[in-house]
Amino acid sequence: MPLSRSREILSELISFSSITRESNLELIAYVRALLQTHGIESFLVHDETGTKANLFATVGPRGVPGVVLSGHTDVVPVEGQAWTRAAFALTEEGGRLYGRGSADMKGFIACALHALIEAASMPLSRPLQLALSYDEEIGCIGVRRLLDVLEAGPERPFLCIIGEPTLMQLATGHKGKTALHASCHGREGHSALAPLTVSALHLGVDLVQEVRQLQNTLSTQGAHDAAYDVPYTTLHVGKFSAGVALNIVPKRCDMDFEIRNIAADNPRDLVDLLQAAASRITAQAQVIAPEAHIHIEEVNAYPGLETSPTTDAVAFVKSFWPQSETVKLAFGTEGGLFSSRLGVPVVVCGPGSITQAHKADEYVEVEQLAQCDAFLKMLMAQLI
Ligand SMILES: [Zn+2]
Repeated sequence: MPLSRSREILSELISFSSITRESNLELIAYVRALLQTHGIESFLVHDETGTKANLFATVGPRGVPGVVLSGHTDVVPVEGQAWTRAAFALTEEGGRLYGRGSADMKGFIACALHALIEAASMPLSRPLQLALSYDEEIGCIGVRRLLDVLEAGPERPFLCIIGEPTLMQLATGHKGKTALHASCHGREGHSALAPLTVSALHLGVDLVQEVRQLQNTLSTQGAHDAAYDVPYTTLHVGKFSAGVALNIVPKRCDMDFEIRNIAADNPRDLVDLLQAAASRITAQAQVIAPEAHIHIEEVNAYPGLETSPTTDAVAFVKSFWPQSETVKLAFGTEGGLFSSRLGVPVVVCGPGSITQAHKADEYVEVEQLAQCDAFLKMLMAQLI
């Protein structure tokens, strides 16, 4: 069987490791050169260090709203994972294509590039566009600079398709995420005199208790969205550190925690509740140590995605890619940012499964790539 062009491109894409901590410029240069070979113009938007870049390309007429295919070029690391195949070379076995990023989400990018190349020789009446970003895996950082440029531009696309792995199901929503850090400050002292000092670790534990209490309230009395596996806003503490030695009362405690909100909840309100709880906790401690305090700061946040399944844009996709129902995703994507910054309807639809992502021996099925190629072919037929 001849290799599909998407598969060939995927093989090239996987050979650039493009782990988030690394530069993605070699991968971007490859993509840009590939597009240029087919007469497709693109522009780059670099990060502040100049070592990473977003890429945006357009095929078809200008000045008309088009469809944006969006993907991130970065992948998660492989250290500590028990890979039995090469992580940065494509291996085909049993109908699967193995390699880091095959599912998340270089498989989609390969199909999207294939589609743009095909589109370049088609008489499109509406443009097909490609947006590639960096630093998605650490909180949808890179795409924001691209969105700054697109927001200032004259046109808005009429649809954005984020190709995160959904097994080619049409997804119209995901939760928002707010990453937070709390630093708790107490008073150091000899542990034998612990009641005369303020343990920052104890302040931290009290704050964790408040986080859990808030989670409990939200799960039992808060808003619910049955489209999600976990149908309510979640809170989670992922990291907690304090203490130097058993006989020293810790003066500092740090914790990382997060809120993943459904559309009905505003994460800022929840942060305010936790801030108020922190003030109550420290008010007691300040009787002993006036310097005691808890500082909560937002580290990073991206908005949720909530595209109405009855919008024209969703109907447009369903007209050529019939789905009995749309789904919502447990994981976040850049879609919430595209939607909120550009006011564009966004759907998420891409090859492979999120359960195959971020793991050893990540793979995408050949059949999934073929489905994505078919999807994009039908999309392009709608743009003529
Ligand atoms: Zn991804």
